[in-house]
Amino acid sequence: MVWIHIVGGGVAGLSLASELSKYPRLPGSVVVSDPNIDSRDDRTYSFWSDRDHSNFLPGTSQYSKWVVSSESKSVTQTGKNWHYYRISGRAFFEKCKKVIERHPQCFLNNETIGSKPSAKYVFDSRPPGTNRFRAYQSFVGIEIKCEHDFATDIALLMTNMRTEDAGLYFEYMLPITDTSLLIESTYFGTIPGNMDNLERNSLEWIKNNNLTGQVIRKEKAHIPMGLRPSTNDDWGIPIGARGGMTRASSGYGFMNMRAWAKITAKKLTAGQPITKYRSPLLETWMDLQLIKIIQKKPQYLPKIFLDIAQNTKGDDFASFLTKTRPLNALQVITGAPAKPFLESIMQMFKEK
Ligand SMILES: Cc1cc2nc3c(=O)[nH]c(=O)nc-3n(C[C@H](O)[C@H](O)[C@H](O)COP(=O)(O)OP(=O)(O)OC[C@H]3O[C@@H](n4cnc5c(N)ncnc54)[C@H](O)[C@@H]3O)c2cc1C
Repeated sequence: MVWIHIVGGGVAGLSLASELSKYPRLPGSVVVSDPNIDSRDDRTYSFWSDRDHSNFLPGTSQYSKWVVSSESKSVTQTGKNWHYYRISGRAFFEKCKKVIERHPQCFLNNETIGSKPSAKYVFDSRPPGTNRFRAYQSFVGIEIKCEHDFATDIALLMTNMRTEDAGLYFEYMLPITDTSLLIESTYFGTIPGNMDNLERNSLEWIKNNNLTGQVIRKEKAHIPMGLRPSTNDDWGIPIGARGGMTRASSGYGFMNMRAWAKITAKKLTAGQPITKYRSPLLETWMDLQLIKIIQKKPQYLPKIFLDIAQNTKGDDFASFLTKTRPLNALQVITGAPAKPFLESIMQMFKEK
């Protein structure tokens, strides 16, 4: 019998399998099934960290400054201990594959699984249905190669924030090399963003900034911002985005999944019980307040993000968006405009 069957070889599935492959002798075999194992050039992963990841993979980009702006105001933050990183999906998947395929008890199968597989442990990372999304982060990204020289250590995180279509729009720009860029037009709202509009916005941003060059690659997605409870259609233990490991307020999940995989591999090899992932209570509460604002008062969002960026240090902002701890939650709450948070808290008491 298979010891561990992981359905889906995305960030969560491959992270768990590659952590397990670091143990030379496993209690049984590990199978990862995914029909798209060999086509992984369709995404970029970005994350904050206070550890140096610049040598994590070839081509990892590191940014020490990030910008949040609306039409009328711009705030630049500098990270001292924290930096923003970008890695290519392809490089990440190739690194994981190499480690997994070297282990004699680990297998990557190019296949779609149609029903719960039989194994001692089943981990299910099939993407959750959009009917479970509380709110949506939709984006279309365009990578261009151009003849301009860019500063490579500054990321435009949320630039040109504006509210339209009952949601928040902004552009996100990451230099990849000094002559290539990723530009993503993003929408936060309660309905899925319109992908044609988002692509048009990205192209317009390129034109308005007088950038000329060649489109190399596109990426797009609807990512959940908060998930409603599952309706019992999980196969075994839900993980990754399905298991609530992406941050509801930002869609970031990469580092959380990597950290979860390391701990879980250690527990599995030690024969300890494995339970369903639960995000920390404070983080869940904070993120829920933001989702309520997206649902009810999206016009507040540019001011909230700008005030938080202006009133918190770069390191606190980055650490808050990665893992909320009481002290940096307090710093962020006191940095945010009081009205929307108070309204949201009052609403919560009314609902009780
Ligand atoms: C274009 C794009 C850019 C993103 N950028 C970032 C970012 O910058 N930072 C960040 O933190 N997050 C980012 N995300 C979100 C990110 O995808 C998630 O954090 C992460 O990929 C979720 O990992 P996962 O393992 O849960 O799911 P996925 O990586 O989506 O993997 C799920 C896998 O399950 C497979 N699968 C589905 N059904 C079956 C089946 N029946 N049988 C077998 N396999 C199946 C799919 O083929 C897929 O490979 C991005 C997502 C996309 C799509």
